[in-house]
Amino acid sequence: MEQPGRIALVTGGSRGLGRNVVLSLARRGIDSIFTYNSAVAQADAMARAVEEIGRRAIPMQLDVGQVDAFDAFVSRFTEALAGLGAARFDYLVNNAGISHHNALEKTTEAELDAIYRINFKGVFFLTQKLLPLLKDGGRIVNLSSGLTRIVVPGSGPYGALKAALEVLTRYQAKELGPRRITVNAVAPGAIQTDFSGGMVRDNPELNRQVADMTALGRAGVPDDIGPMIASLLSDDNRWVNAQRIEVSGGMAI
Ligand code: NAD
Repeated sequence: MEQPGRIALVTGGSRGLGRNVVLSLARRGIDSIFTYNSAVAQADAMARAVEEIGRRAIPMQLDVGQVDAFDAFVSRFTEALAGLGAARFDYLVNNAGISHHNALEKTTEAELDAIYRINFKGVFFLTQKLLPLLKDGGRIVNLSSGLTRIVVPGSGPYGALKAALEVLTRYQAKELGPRRITVNAVAPGAIQTDFSGGMVRDNPELNRQVADMTALGRAGVPDDIGPMIASLLSDDNRWVNAQRIEVSGGMAI
């Protein structure tokens, strides 16, 4: 379904799942502003890829772990929206995130703080600061993980903080309901991206293990996720709210 005139903000949109979300939205007629952390060339290439689809995608630098930079980002974002002829935006996809692998017994305070800052605190405050610019009736999607349900040793801190994001999702849905804003968490299974050093994609043994524990018999690819999120944001799914939706091909069922 084409939904022209709508605008999304996708964090971490220059590669992996975020990139796929921006491309999938563009195919549905939706322009995006997307953030990248440091990969300028990759972000510019991404903007050109969206232009080839006939839509616009504007890259903006943002470290989602640096909350004190958010006010300046919101000002720049407001200008970018104006460049697209809009004062407000429709969809927020909190996608940017990092992985972490360590046993509970060995995880350091610095490691825990780093994932908290990027995977939870950044999502919390970026969303808070963007709320005045999000349209009433808008949508928020938070990227969670299959690891909130599937217990894999070494993924405790990551899984627990993604679980916190799922609870935040429900509170956001409740508190933003009066503005008709829906908020859902999408929890991908193991997907072949650069995530975790690209291990699901590049480690054949791990890739086979994931395939073996997945009902559909393979590890996921970005095209399994981006179109699903674009579809979740469409009007067809307007009554889906406050949900954790796992998109894993049936992993560990
Ligand atoms: P990826 O590593 O390819 O991409 C992560 C994105 O986040 C990149 O664009 C990166 O620049 C951005 N990012 C990381 N730290 C940042 C920071 N401090 N500031 C700004 N941007 C930052 O991984 P991906 O697979 O595309 O992951 C996207 C999301 O999906 C993450 O939230 C991840 O936790 C989640 N997820 C991934 C998988 C998987 O198997 N790939 C599974 C479940 C959930």
